[in-house]
Amino acid sequence: MLTHNLGYPRIGSNRELKKACESYWAGSLTAKALLNSGENIRQQNWLIQKNAGIDLIPVNDFSFYDQVLDMSLTVGAIPDRYHDIILNKPHSELDLYFAMARGHQKNGLDVTAMEMTKWFDTNYHYIVPEFRKDQAFKLFSSKVIAEVKEARQLGIKTKPVLIGPVSYLLLGKEKEPGFNRIDLIENLLPVYLDILGQLEENGVEWVQLDEPYLVLDLNEREKAAFQYVYNTIKKSFPSLKTMLATYFEGMGDNLPLVTSLPICALHIDLVRCPDQLESVLQSLPEKTSISLGLVDGRNVWKNDFQRSMEVIRKAVNKLGEGRVMIAPSCSLLHSPCDLDLETDEKILAPEIKSWLAFAKQKLDEVVTLKQLICSGTDAAALKKLALNQSAVESRKVSPLIHSDQVKQRAASLAAKDAHRMSSFAVRKEKQHRFLELPSFPTTTIGSFPQTKEVRSWRAQFKKGQLTEAEYTSLLKQETERVIRWQEQVGLDVLVHGEFERNDMVEYFGEQLEGFAFSSNGWVQSYGSRCVKPPIIYGDVSRPKPMTVVWSQYAQSLTAKIVKGMLTGPVTLLQWSFVRNDQPRSKTCMQIALAIRDEVMDLEKAGIKIIQIDEPAIREGLPLRKADWKAYLDWAVKAFRIAAGGVRDETQIHTHMCYSEFNDIIEEIAAMDADVITIECSRSQMELLDAFAAFQYPNEIGPGVYDIHSPRVPTQAEMVGLLNKAKEVIPEKQLWVNPDCGLKTRGWEETRKALAEMVEAAKTLREK
Ligand code: GLN
Ligand code: ZN
Repeated sequence: MLTHNLGYPRIGSNRELKKACESYWAGSLTAKALLNSGENIRQQNWLIQKNAGIDLIPVNDFSFYDQVLDMSLTVGAIPDRYHDIILNKPHSELDLYFAMARGHQKNGLDVTAMEMTKWFDTNYHYIVPEFRKDQAFKLFSSKVIAEVKEARQLGIKTKPVLIGPVSYLLLGKEKEPGFNRIDLIENLLPVYLDILGQLEENGVEWVQLDEPYLVLDLNEREKAAFQYVYNTIKKSFPSLKTMLATYFEGMGDNLPLVTSLPICALHIDLVRCPDQLESVLQSLPEKTSISLGLVDGRNVWKNDFQRSMEVIRKAVNKLGEGRVMIAPSCSLLHSPCDLDLETDEKILAPEIKSWLAFAKQKLDEVVTLKQLICSGTDAAALKKLALNQSAVESRKVSPLIHSDQVKQRAASLAAKDAHRMSSFAVRKEKQHRFLELPSFPTTTIGSFPQTKEVRSWRAQFKKGQLTEAEYTSLLKQETERVIRWQEQVGLDVLVHGEFERNDMVEYFGEQLEGFAFSSNGWVQSYGSRCVKPPIIYGDVSRPKPMTVVWSQYAQSLTAKIVKGMLTGPVTLLQWSFVRNDQPRSKTCMQIALAIRDEVMDLEKAGIKIIQIDEPAIREGLPLRKADWKAYLDWAVKAFRIAAGGVRDETQIHTHMCYSEFNDIIEEIAAMDADVITIECSRSQMELLDAFAAFQYPNEIGPGVYDIHSPRVPTQAEMVGLLNKAKEVIPEKQLWVNPDCGLKTRGWEETRKALAEMVEAAKTLREK
């Protein structure tokens, strides 16, 4: 029985890669030093895996930016706009690579970056391959071969990882009309064959081909491409061992296709879809091995050995030990690196820590599971089993996790709790009388620039260099300044600026029961950007008001309306590691109730408008369309519960960032927020079409300027966008606001842009 791993986090346990890349981009690190630090991380990772006892260790899972971009460079799918960089001698492959990832503006060259999008349903973002109709491919970068050689020199037995050719094409985008990217498969496959040939020459025995598209809905052409690719590979390299990796879902109706492919091993995700084991075991061809993805690669909980052993035994009984492999469910890219680094008990309580496993610990779990099956009487393994079972048991019954009060409250939710008192038509009239806003009311999305100063206050406060009173007083001064400035520039609905918040999820998580934090649990989000998601470990409740003091203080400074500002339940859930001992929907309802309490307290404190941000609602959509409805039902309900308790006069806003709305517009309408603000400017208001076609009844604030760029938009531009909006949405429904929060912007451009925006609204009112 072999153990293997699908991929290891490449950021380094102390985010070494982030630091190295950012220094290189800033010009303070040489290319050679950057390459060196990559090499160190790879070696460290290989040795960690070797020492853990993993049999097949992945290579080519390392990347300086993104594994899909690596693949594009490997097969030479380099868009034309980068060709000057290739031709320009002093530039290296590294510069070309980063130009594709981040754009390039140096030495007279000015090229934009490639598009980035989310990797399936994770929070990882990849660089989208760009294809043309006559797209040619050729082996351009030999990174994978080089890494195989590098590992071999260290005496590491490796299993190179490649994104499979079909998934690689499907991950990309057609950049001109008149073709379908799957038709490029015949151009692409020869490059893969070239690579596989070189790998074989270099003594590679196993190759892992990731084809996560096998868990999605596939059409006939795509299925035929799978047949073509894997039959050709088999014919070309009859003795190369191919492992086909699926993950993030079950294969469902693609199973007959998968079992018809001539592969040596099939990896399946048994965390996301434990039910598929039975049918896979039934239909696996006689010589194919199965890789059981048992250890959760996307969450932080310890594996339940007893349960996993039952699964392994089932597979062994059917196939024999020799055809069974044990692995994490997917690449460990999505796990934090090392739990051993969590030594601060004030941040992560020892009891909670005892329930967790990060990437390094997960390797140990994989190996221990093998030992428990193959050498069942091994004393060390048995001791690990006993420890594991006591951790699993302690988590089940811990009073830290379970609150009867929270459970009862969620269980006794009534249908009316998810409804406002009156319909929007009635609320609208009352709100207009109560709020007395002009037409085209202006507002912002919540945060104002988090300057270096503001961040340094927080850092000093955390280190104990500022007392709580000093810290609060500095934040109050900043809040007052931003209120005065908003009054001066003439905004209609003000915000307090969110200076007290580090992050829209962490800030709430830190104040809610049931959330824990790590000091070093970083996970790559894209490029050098990492996130440290909170860990929802128990029943969620709100011990006391979280934002009321700030909103109340800001409101006390001004006669204008100050909008309360909260993060919604779906976003809090989506951007955290979640419990695996109950459905996500259940956790989400508990969070919704906690937010509802906050909403009610804000209303009681005299806050007339409350915004509940849900930028992550679309991200939570399941991979298969058939599962969308069930998710959207509970996600929408959670929002409605959070918002549902207030009087008709209190206006509820929500906010969503750049996303398509076409296919979920009905559900967005069902959220029944009085006002929704959306990111819109980059799409030139095109995103409004979905609202128009649906005759969306409530009010909408389409973002009129892109906050991701320091560029200051002109009044005329924004008037133009608003006129476009007016063509499709009745003007009575329209608000005027930026695309998103201004946290990452500087003050200078913010002042100018908002002044222009206020003028734009005035121009529209005069018409
Ligand atoms: N209120 C938040 C802010 O302004 C919203 C952030 C977001 O949508 N991502 O920062
Ligand atoms: Zn946003």
